[in-house]
Formats: sequence, structure tokens, C-alpha cells
Amino acid sequence: MSIIYFNGEFIPQEDAKISITDRGFTFGDGIYEVIPVYNGTAFRLPEHIQRLENSLANIRLKIDYKLTDWQRIFDELLTRNLTEFGKGLSLYLQITRGATAQRDHLLPNKPKPTIIAFCMPYVPNTIEKLAQGIKAITLPDLRWARCSIKSTNLLPNVLQRQEAEDQGAQEAILIKDGFAFECTSSNLFLVKDGVIVTPPKSHHLLGGITRDVILELAAKHNMPYAEQAIPETALTSADEIWISSSTREIRPILALNGKPVGDGTPGPIWWQLIQHYFAFKESLNTPHTA
Ligand code: PLP
Repeated sequence: MSIIYFNGEFIPQEDAKISITDRGFTFGDGIYEVIPVYNGTAFRLPEHIQRLENSLANIRLKIDYKLTDWQRIFDELLTRNLTEFGKGLSLYLQITRGATAQRDHLLPNKPKPTIIAFCMPYVPNTIEKLAQGIKAITLPDLRWARCSIKSTNLLPNVLQRQEAEDQGAQEAILIKDGFAFECTSSNLFLVKDGVIVTPPKSHHLLGGITRDVILELAAKHNMPYAEQAIPETALTSADEIWISSSTREIRPILALNGKPVGDGTPGPIWWQLIQHYFAFKESLNTPHTA
């Protein structure tokens, strides 16, 4: 039975009850994080919590939790759920503005946020699995203008991810005003003439933790990269295109809108980067002696 964190308590999942007036339920008024766990350690926890705090500030919601509080909560969750999930799990964390007496668009003066965290099954990928790549399509970006907030309002993302699936693809690259910004649940990279390109952070995309890791690794290993806008037309002439996210990690798109990207196999820059990425993850899991 999985044990979850629910407003200050650790309880069995089936005992958690959320009010029908919870604003997360009625307005999608909440934010979330997904954090993979490697060898018992939450990956890039400070960065995830920083992004959570940015999301909270942007939706005008204050809570009293610090990084050390989250660390304690996650340690407890991991300890209590290890037998349920084995070693393969990720952490999900969601905060809504909580329940109110009546449904009202106006923000409550004294919100009582609903704070939940739980474990989800997640089997880390192998390089071979990631090298299988994905197919993608392009779709118009139907989302709102504040995509840097990790909001639980995911209806456009959900519908467009399904549309990709319906067309035999596993992701959709979202296009706004002629530019590609990111995908339904991942960031976007392309490679042209040896340079790794990803759009700069803005309201048009979520600043991914994996995106940051990729840029750090590129810098560290002297791989040319640029944060610059990607016109839709650049997608058709790209040598490589990748997606990145915490749980899908870094995957090459091998076909876009039914046409091969490059020669239709993972490109040399992806192979180079993925080795660095796995070596980096490995280095974090190496036990340190005092
Ligand atoms: N962009 C969107 C819209 C996402 O939903 C996600 C992850 O869920 C990402 C990008 C990638 O972010 P991260 O690497 O932090 O998982």
C-alpha cells in the first residue's frame, strides 16, 4: 500500500480526501513538480524546489516550506515506499490553493493550501532504450502565455499529447507565431552544423531541469551550443532533434511529421551528449567516503 504525504501527515493513499471546492479541482489552481529518484536520491532537488518556489510566487501563493522540509518529506516517503516500488520510483509534488467555502474566482485572503507528495513508479532508462528514439509531429501551441509556470492546468498539453499518439507519434513540437518553443511535456533541442540549439527561457516554455543539465554538460565538454529561437522552418533542415525531460530524459526524434530527421538514426552529437549525461548521473550516485 503506498504511503503519501498529505498536508503534514503520512497516510495510506486511499485515506486521503480532497474537498470538492479545492481550487486545484475547480480551477486547476495549483502547481507541481516531478522528480526522478536515482539510487535513492532525488535528482537535482534544490533546482526542482527553486522552480517550485518560482511557480508559487508567480501564482501568488505562499507556503512555509523550505528545501530542508522537502528533503525530510521525501526521505520519509522514500523510506516508507521502498518495498512498494522497489528502487524504481519518482516523486510527485503538488500544491493547490486549497478549499474555500464557495467557488469564487477571486483569490482567498487566507488560503489553506493542499500540499501532497507521493511516489510514482519510474524505471530509469538505459542508453539503448533512449536510442530507440521517438516520432514527433508539429502542432499549433494552444497553451496560455505563462508556460514557465509549472501549472497543473495541463489540458492543452494532454489533448495535444494524445493527438500526437493518435497520429502514431510520441510527442508534439508546439509552434507559436512561426517558432518552435518546446513540446507537450518536454523541452526541445536541435543540432545544426555541430551546434546544439535550444530556445532561451521565456514565458513560452517551461525551464526544464534536464534542459539545464544538457547545457551545463555541453559547456563542460566544449560542445558548441546556443540558446536561440528556433523558427519552425529550421526543424526540417536540422541534423538532429531531441526532447528532454526528467523522466523521458534525452531522446532523439528520429522522424518528424513522417519524414526522417537526419538519416533517421540518433545523431553523433546525441551519442556524445548521452554518454556525458549518463556519466554525470553515475558520478552523483558514487558513494563518497569521508
Ligand atoms: N516542458 C514541459 C511543458 C514539461 O511538462 C516538462 C516536464 O514535465 C518539461 C518541459 C521538461 O522539464 P524537466 O526537464 O524539468 O522535467
